Amino acid sequence: MDTSEGRADQLRSALDAFRNEDLSEQPDARLEEDFAELQRVVEIAERERLRRLAEIERRGIFGRDGHLSAASWLATSFRVAWGAAKDQVRTARGLDDMPETRKALDAGEVSLSAAKVLVQAREVDPDAFAKSEPELVEAARGHQVGDLQRVATHWRNAVERDRADGGEDRLRAMRRLNASRTFAGMIRVDGDLDPETGEALLTSLRAVMDAEARAGARAQPGEHGQDVCTPAQRRADALGEICRQWLDRSDRPRIGGERPHVTVTIGMEALRDLRSSSELDHAGPVGPEIAKRLACDASIVRVVMAGPSEPLDVGRRTPVISPAQRRAVVARDCHCRFPGCDRPAPWCDAHHVVHWADGGPTALGNLILLCRRHHRILHERHGFRLDMGDGRPVFRRPDGSVLGDRAPPLAG
Ligand SMILES: [Zn+2]
Ligand SMILES: [Zn+2]
Repeated sequence: MDTSEGRADQLRSALDAFRNEDLSEQPDARLEEDFAELQRVVEIAERERLRRLAEIERRGIFGRDGHLSAASWLATSFRVAWGAAKDQVRTARGLDDMPETRKALDAGEVSLSAAKVLVQAREVDPDAFAKSEPELVEAARGHQVGDLQRVATHWRNAVERDRADGGEDRLRAMRRLNASRTFAGMIRVDGDLDPETGEALLTSLRAVMDAEARAGARAQPGEHGQDVCTPAQRRADALGEICRQWLDRSDRPRIGGERPHVTVTIGMEALRDLRSSSELDHAGPVGPEIAKRLACDASIVRVVMAGPSEPLDVGRRTPVISPAQRRAVVARDCHCRFPGCDRPAPWCDAHHVVHWADGGPTALGNLILLCRRHHRILHERHGFRLDMGDGRPVFRRPDGSVLGDRAPPLAG
């Protein structure tokens, strides 16, 4: 049984003993013991996998099928997520040059999670790491991963300080931000921010998310169609809010005589005929629902199409709602008018009760302030409806019943 197939069989049949067990029958102690053993086995298996990955990269085996990197080979051949594949290659490659770490890992004295912290530390300055490796491995032996992370950060800071050219400049030189279109108009953002910019970003995101959470806590759940978001989704929303509020500021610089704003390019028939397409300047084509919502309160370029892809006449870029009209709506409504919501005007769009594409006028009587969330809820197919009855907005639940109305804060 020396062939690789034979060895794989041995490995698998050793695990079969575990796989066939009925866990509900097992005593606690046995369950814990087995867990500990499997944890050890997983660590050893992963370590051996990474050792082979490093060797595969060194020999360039991945190139045989035309892959340009070991990460791409790993991602494609084993359906590993791209980010995870890059991470694993990075760890495998790093460990290759970390003899002390490898020794401790093989002896089971440090976990792979700890080793990954050290791999990342090494990337800052491989030479300095080689000198400090014994002490850092010692720290990995004695600390939990969270504490080790702090030790590694201190070490990195010390290394940065020691640098002749000054750590701060180096960190700043590493700053970068990429934003690129991926699929269906999604934009992928990734990058590294210097500590100062990063702090500003995190502080702003936190501030927006806190404000959102406070506003959300006042609105009653369910009735107002709030969706439950993950933290990552909330951060994405917060970033969008920060960008939109900046775009809305009237004191920011003009470029080429105008202030760039979110612009929807729309075929004249697009909003009525849901099959024709609309486009955002940067994100590209968007579906009719999004187009209709954005077109409620954005800059619009109307395009008359001669054929499916042949523009006949491209109109000027015009804001749907003039700054004066917006001021009037804000003065009247002050905040989101959805019952129970009081997100202030800077967080709001001016919504056409009857969309202009359906013949609704862009006039005070047909405009109402809605925060981004409630604007989305009204436009998308959540079933919530809004009508104007005698100049007062009437919001209805999907079942047709009326949501508690509220007079505007200021008369008129
Ligand atoms: Zn709208
Ligand atoms: Zn609202």
